[in-house]
Amino acid sequence: MPEDWRELLARLQQAFGPQHWWPADSPFEVMVGAILTQNTSWTQVEKAIAGLRKAQLLDGKALLHTPPEVLEPLLRCTGYYRLKTRRLLALCAFLQREGCLGRPEHLGARDDLTTLRRKLLGVYGVGEETADSILLYALQRPISVVDAYTKRLAQRLGWADARVSYAALQSRMEAQLRRNDVRGRQELHALIVVHGKTYCRSRPVCADCPLLRDCRHGSVVTSGAHHRAGDRVGSPEH
Ligand code: SF4
Repeated sequence: MPEDWRELLARLQQAFGPQHWWPADSPFEVMVGAILTQNTSWTQVEKAIAGLRKAQLLDGKALLHTPPEVLEPLLRCTGYYRLKTRRLLALCAFLQREGCLGRPEHLGARDDLTTLRRKLLGVYGVGEETADSILLYALQRPISVVDAYTKRLAQRLGWADARVSYAALQSRMEAQLRRNDVRGRQELHALIVVHGKTYCRSRPVCADCPLLRDCRHGSVVTSGAHHRAGDRVGSPEH
């Protein structure tokens, strides 16, 4: 299949159905999840979020006024918990500076996408994937998220080589996806993750994959010519 992100979305929707991401009750919870999911599994993030909710700390104002030594034990299960505590508090301080700590969904309401993304990338601990996850899922802005699953799939389909940068892959997706289609971008990222966990793992399960007939790597793997080809790809963050 030649590079076609809209066709990929359609094919994955057909195979897996609607995903309705991000699994969260509020935009602030999406932001917290986007920070906590760095380098850990979603199961651990869910545990931490449940702990924050129980402690009534799933709220920007409450979180900002909580000492790190109280927060750290609640985030321990996500790994790098001291770092993530600092990052969460930095995000809350940023929301406060932007005047929307109590209403995080209003973040950047007057900013265009480029300006808001630049501001987010200036927050301690917020990288491109985290910023774009917040923009797409918490703030409903039309921007594609590129994660390890996305890169791996693009490589295996023959659309990108292993050195492709985040920005390069994102701009290629943006060039093909409908301009203001937030829902399509939300579903595409969710579906790529689900597909990556189900079939396109580090050792891919190609025989049952819905993309097999159009996948360059899959045709090599199923022909038996390249048994361990998938081992070169690193672990996804989710
Ligand atoms: S056929 Fe295999 S390598 Fe290709 S997308 Fe599917 S699981 Fe991944």
